[in-house]
Amino acid sequence: MTIASYRRILLKLSGEALMGDGQYGIDPATVSRMAAEVKAAKDTGLEICLVIGGGNIFRGMAGAAKGMDRAQADYMGMLATVMNALAMQSALEQLGVPTRVQSAIEMDKVCEPVIRRRAQRHLEKGRVVIFAAGVGAPYFTTDSGAALRAAEMKCDALLKGTSVDGVYNADPKLDPNAVRYETLSYDRVLQDNLKVMDASAVALCRDNSIPIVVFSIREQGNLARVLSGEGTATTVHQKD
Ligand code: UDP
Repeated sequence: MTIASYRRILLKLSGEALMGDGQYGIDPATVSRMAAEVKAAKDTGLEICLVIGGGNIFRGMAGAAKGMDRAQADYMGMLATVMNALAMQSALEQLGVPTRVQSAIEMDKVCEPVIRRRAQRHLEKGRVVIFAAGVGAPYFTTDSGAALRAAEMKCDALLKGTSVDGVYNADPKLDPNAVRYETLSYDRVLQDNLKVMDASAVALCRDNSIPIVVFSIREQGNLARVLSGEGTATTVHQKD
């Protein structure tokens, strides 16, 4: 299946994608820009699931490093992802995109719980579904949440929007000779410890043959461009 023939995708954005130029938190103008990216992609006829991280607000590892109980800190991180999900829902609805948030930690005053069949129905009705709180368990990340939801929602691919336009053999911000891969295998990513997503997320995608498309979300219109098969990205799949 080529990128241009995807029908349903899961888009994973890190919490930092909502931060703008700041060091912390949610920048409404940046969230609006991200929402416009999602709308442009949706307007091409795609069904879109979204998973947003929480690193712009709180990361469990950072809390644990400062002496907090890891599991407790991870729950705080999961709550951070719910805040980001609500911010994104608001921005999408301002653009006229119907959106539902489903959280892996039940919070019925603010959003729905994760119910797969219900999410499926939302997608069929043209709603964007934002999955919040990752997998709902500590010691995981939203990358794993993204892989899990991509599998259960039968998404054609997991698109990971980051600050670089793909996967390189070295850090392109530090090494001017770094080379971008056009495609590579899950096994290579795991063996070479390439920073695509964490290992459990990559393994889950491998076991369910879900391609991971890594691209830059920084340039305007890039998500739609990549989805049309024209943009710059790295696809991780079974073969090297
Ligand atoms: N988290 C968790 N379980 C999950 C998803 C997230 O415990 O299934 C916590 C974890 O502490 C993580 C934080 O939520 O550090 C924020 O998520 P993540 O670090 O994945 O956000 P991103 O780096 O994508 O912004």
